[in-house]
Amino acid sequence: NKFPKEKFGNKNLSKFKGHIEFKDVNFSYEENIPVLKNLNLEVLPNEVVGFVGPSGAGKSTIFNLISALNKPDSGEILFDGESINELTKDSIRGNLSVISQNAYIFNMSIEDNLRIIKKNATKKEIEKACKMACLDEFIESLPNKYKTIVGEGGVTLSGGQRQRIAIARALLLNTEVLLFDEATSALDNENQAKIKKAIDNLVKDHTIIIVAHRLSTIIDADIIYLIDDGQVVDEGTHKSLLIKNEIYKTLYENEE
Ligand code: ADP
Ligand code: MG
Repeated sequence: NKFPKEKFGNKNLSKFKGHIEFKDVNFSYEENIPVLKNLNLEVLPNEVVGFVGPSGAGKSTIFNLISALNKPDSGEILFDGESINELTKDSIRGNLSVISQNAYIFNMSIEDNLRIIKKNATKKEIEKACKMACLDEFIESLPNKYKTIVGEGGVTLSGGQRQRIAIARALLLNTEVLLFDEATSALDNENQAKIKKAIDNLVKDHTIIIVAHRLSTIIDADIIYLIDDGQVVDEGTHKSLLIKNEIYKTLYENEE
């Protein structure tokens, strides 16, 4: 909905390691209403990075910039040191998987819902991805297991199950970076625990970036950025933020 700033570059981002840097990034959706203000932050390869902060702080906007859905007005984002201005949108997006509770579920079998992402995926690959995504127990409980139809004409999936389908899809694609935008609506505790376990399964081989509404999801994150009003107001591990940041401490205490 804004002036033409959609021009990216024509270089391909290849063999992406997962290093993302925001340097003095400014962004607005509408002129004269700044949303991100001189934002600086860094995501290191194979780390788990959490974002927390009040609604409207700019967390999803940060995700949209990482996903090359939008481009900074000024400043730059570097992917393995290469400026977003030099790279193609498609090659940036090809290295990322977005994992949301709104993952689209087609009216077909579970395994076909996964093959949507990778046509020639073998049964073995699919089973492995589902195990990593903590979906295996659920699938084994279904009448026709992997061949069970889900979606409108079949078994209805909960938000947590859909999110884990998205995780399994991301594993099949094998992208370096995974972006989780945790839904505001709370998952039940069992689903929450399974998502946490699925994320733990992915740690080390992937760079995982999480917008968390439940701080329990990011307790083990390598770094947490506290975002407010389009800026990083504090950063650190869960432990260090609990000690040094009153806002974070209050967020955490109110959760229990
Ligand atoms: P968060 O994810 O932290 O809740 P967002 O990044 O969604 O925050 O929003 C940051 C600010 O940008 C908010 O003030 C929001 O109203 C505004 N905003 C988000 N998306 C749009 C849009 N498409 N057009 C105009 N303003 C937007
Ligand atoms: Mg958001």
